[in-house]
Amino acid sequence: MYLKCLEVVGFKSFADPVRVDFHRGVTCVVGPNGCGKSNVLDAIRWVLGEQSAKALRGGSMQDVIFSGTDTRKPIGMAEVALTFAECEDALGTEYHEVRVARRIYRDGHGEYEINKTPCRLRDIHRLFMDTGIGRSAYSIMEQGKIDKILSSKPEERRAVFEEAAGITKFKTQKKEALRKLEATESNLIRVSDIIKEVNRQIGSLHRQANKAKRYQELFDRLKLLDTHLAARDYTALEEQRVSSQARHQALQMEFNELQGALESQEEQLQLMQKQLETGRQKRQELERETTRLETEKEKAEQTIEFNQRRIHELTDLTHSAQKDVMEAEE
Ligand code: ATP
Ligand code: MG
Repeated sequence: MYLKCLEVVGFKSFADPVRVDFHRGVTCVVGPNGCGKSNVLDAIRWVLGEQSAKALRGGSMQDVIFSGTDTRKPIGMAEVALTFAECEDALGTEYHEVRVARRIYRDGHGEYEINKTPCRLRDIHRLFMDTGIGRSAYSIMEQGKIDKILSSKPEERRAVFEEAAGITKFKTQKKEALRKLEATESNLIRVSDIIKEVNRQIGSLHRQANKAKRYQELFDRLKLLDTHLAARDYTALEEQRVSSQARHQALQMEFNELQGALESQEEQLQLMQKQLETGRQKRQELERETTRLETEKEKAEQTIEFNQRRIHELTDLTHSAQKDVMEAEE
């Protein structure tokens, strides 16, 4: 396997797309101070998954994006792609070439790809494990790093040698297996807790089931008794209904008879009312006749009184005339 090419765009000082083809036998990158040699190395570290902004000589991860110069505006995204060739044996893949890529945007959103397929950082770590390639592997030694390795703690040094010897993968696998074992153990403990809890629940469920059975039995008995009671009530009500019906019929007949009698009496009443009316009219006529006769009687009485007074007067006249006659005779 060998490093075939590096493509960089928007990363640090590489504003324009840059493609660096590493021909076989390339052993160094040369250039004046500040020309971007370390940026090339940073790009390689970054695409392999570097998570420390400090290790990339920045404050935050977004600092790797081209931040502009006096003559150029900043860019919104940085992308680096690294291609390896003859990968079959070293990476254990079926691909001849493997291209890993990483992208980051100003909002901090980032993504990884292996051969143009989106993937996770873990997939990239796993791909290069035990190959000596990787952000923490010995293959990348920046300025001053050799000193640091020589003066670092024995455990850190050991990690570098382990990676070089290709046993990191197995150590990681062991760690993972131990972790799984631990998880399984805790699962086992949880399961036995659950079993205990379920056993406890079984007792209570058993009691509940007995209660439910007893309830069902009592409920059935209640239903039966209810049915009997309803049947008894029904019979009594039915008897009551029959006798009530008979009584209703008898009363209806009586009612009909009374209705007939009432009708004939009403007819009679009407007849009598008519007779009463004619009687009344006759009485009025008689009263009028009485009044007329009384008036006539009064008139006759007045005539009598007048005539009697006249008789008295004439008698008196006769007496005085007789007296006059007698006086004259005398
Ligand atoms: P030396 O020989 O001193 O080690 P070098 O060749 O390694 O130098 P680098 O450190 O790779 O140089 O590059 C430094 C240059 O990269 C500086 O000019 C710096 O301004 C530029 N640079 C770094 N980050 C960015 C960025 N985000 N945007 C624009 N330019 C950047
Ligand atoms: Mg440098």
